[in-house]
Amino acid sequence: MTRTLRIAREFHWEMGHRLPFHLSGCANIHGHSYKLWVEIEGHCDANGMMIDYGEMKQLVMPVIDEFDHCFLCDENDDVMLRFLKTTNFKFKVVSFTTTAENLVFHFLDRLWELFSVFPQISGLRLRLQETDISYAEAGRTREQ
Ligand SMILES: [Zn+2]
Repeated sequence: MTRTLRIAREFHWEMGHRLPFHLSGCANIHGHSYKLWVEIEGHCDANGMMIDYGEMKQLVMPVIDEFDHCFLCDENDDVMLRFLKTTNFKFKVVSFTTTAENLVFHFLDRLWELFSVFPQISGLRLRLQETDISYAEAGRTREQ
């Protein structure tokens, strides 16, 4: 018998963005209340815990804080970059278009670096919700 164990915690942040390539509404400046489910897979320690939820929060929150209440700007979005540099607004420049798909991969790489140091954790799955009715999901497991 093989049993698997996964635990998850939810994170939230507010963020503005736009998709310059988009031919409709998403090219405009707008924002979302993002929700990220961070789900880890693995086994328990002697105390019956994979990882303390508090420790999970301590690991993930610094990454979330980088994005919270910022404008996330694609490095090729010259219109926005020119504007943002004239302000004191919080913004973050990334090397990809700011779709949910690209964002979930970005978080996957960042968070896997943090969680993979724990030998009891064998996998990470993320579900990123931009809206109540849509999500992008990505995951990875430890290379055997
Ligand atoms: Zn959007």
